[in-house]
Amino acid sequence: MPKYFSCFVISVFFFICLLSFEIFASEAMELNNQGVEAYNLKDYEKAILFLSRALSLSPDSEIVQNNLSNALQALAEEENKRGNFKKAIELVDGAIKINSNNFFAHLQKGVFLLNSGQLLDAIRHLEMAVRLKPGYLDAHELLGEAYYRDNDILSARTQWEYVLQMEPNRKQLKERYDKACREEVVENSFSKTVSQSRHFNLTYPKEITYKIRSYVLSVLEQAYLEIGRKLGGIFPAGPIQVILYDIQQFEAVVQMGQTVGGVYDGKIRIPVINEEGEELSDEEIRRRIYHEYVHVVVYELLKDKVPWWVNEGLAENFSKEFSNREKMILEKFVNNNGLIPYNRLEKISLKDMFASETKMSLAYLQSHATVNMLWSKYGQGRFLNFIQALKRSENPEEAIRNIYHLDYAGLSKGVIQFIQR
Ligand SMILES: [Zn+2]
Repeated sequence: MPKYFSCFVISVFFFICLLSFEIFASEAMELNNQGVEAYNLKDYEKAILFLSRALSLSPDSEIVQNNLSNALQALAEEENKRGNFKKAIELVDGAIKINSNNFFAHLQKGVFLLNSGQLLDAIRHLEMAVRLKPGYLDAHELLGEAYYRDNDILSARTQWEYVLQMEPNRKQLKERYDKACREEVVENSFSKTVSQSRHFNLTYPKEITYKIRSYVLSVLEQAYLEIGRKLGGIFPAGPIQVILYDIQQFEAVVQMGQTVGGVYDGKIRIPVINEEGEELSDEEIRRRIYHEYVHVVVYELLKDKVPWWVNEGLAENFSKEFSNREKMILEKFVNNNGLIPYNRLEKISLKDMFASETKMSLAYLQSHATVNMLWSKYGQGRFLNFIQALKRSENPEEAIRNIYHLDYAGLSKGVIQFIQR
C-alpha cells in the first residue's frame, strides 16, 4: 500500500536586467539584451545561449552573471517540474559555479536532489542554504524533510519545530510533524538497531532476530534488481529506509488497521511479527517486501501521476501469482456485479479502505487481474510505454487509449474475457 507526497516544486520569480551601452562593449550588451528578451518570452534555452556568450565577452559583469544564473535556474525549475531531475541538477550547478553563495540555487539543488532520492547530497545543499539565509522557513522545512527521509527524526523535528513556532498554521507540516513524533516514540525503543546493505538501511526493534534481518536484506536486494529490471532499468540511488515492526508497533505508527500488510510512505514499513508474537513465514515476508518495493520504483517513475489500480496492480503482480483461486473469486464477483468502474479505481481514499474489507480486496484483485492481463497479453515493452504515457497524459484513460487503443469500457471487456478464459 502506498501513501504519496508529490514532487517538490519551488516557485521561481527572478528579475533580470537590460544593460545600457555606457558600461559595456556593445557586442556583450547586445547579446545580454537579446538574452533578456528571450528570457521574458520564457525561452530559457535561447536566453542561456545569448547570456553565456555575453558573459564570455564580459566575464566580470555582475549583471550578466546574475542574468545567466537566473535563466539557468528558471530552466532548471521547469525540468524539475517535468521530472527531469538530472537535467535540473546540471543546470542549477551552472548557477552555483557562477556564484557559490547563491542561496536560491542551493535551495533548488537541495530540492532536486531530494526529489531524485539522493538524500545525503540534498542535506548538504539544504544545510548550505540555511547557513546562507537562516530563518527562510521553506529552507528549514525542506531540510527537516531531508533529515526525516534519512531517518534522523530528531534533527527533522528540530527544523520543523522552528518552522511551526514561526508559522503555526502550516497545516500539512503540522500533520507530518505529528506523524514523525508518533514514529519517534515507537522507534526510539529500537535504539540504534540498524543494518545496512548496498541499497537499504534497515531499522528494527530488538526482538527481531538476526535470521529475519539478514533474510529481509537479501530479499530487498533481490527485489531491487528484479523489479528494477522489469520496470525498465530503474535503480533508485538510495539508501532506501526500511523499518520492521511487530504488528502493534506498526499499528501505532501507521494507524490503518489490521489488514494492511505494509506501507510505503517514502520509507518501507513492514510488520514481520504477528499478534501471537510469531515471525511471519519467509514466503509472506518476501511477498510483502516485493509488493512495497514495487511502490518504491513506481514512485521513482511517476511520482503521484499513477492511478491506484496501476500501482497496486503492479505491486500485486510482481509479488504473487494470479492463481486460479483468485480468478474464481473475481469471476464470481463479476458475474453478480460486473467489474468496478476503472475511474473509481484511479484514486482510493483511506475512507474507502475502511468502509468495506471485501470491497477493498476485490479492488486489489481486479487491479491485479488487469495488470496481469496487460503484461502477459501485450508484453513488457508496451507496458513500459504505458508508464511513459501516464507521465505525459492528462488522465489515465487517455494513456490507455494511446498505448493499448482501449478505453475503459474496452479494458473492462478485455479483463472479463481474460478471467473467463
Ligand atoms: Zn500497495
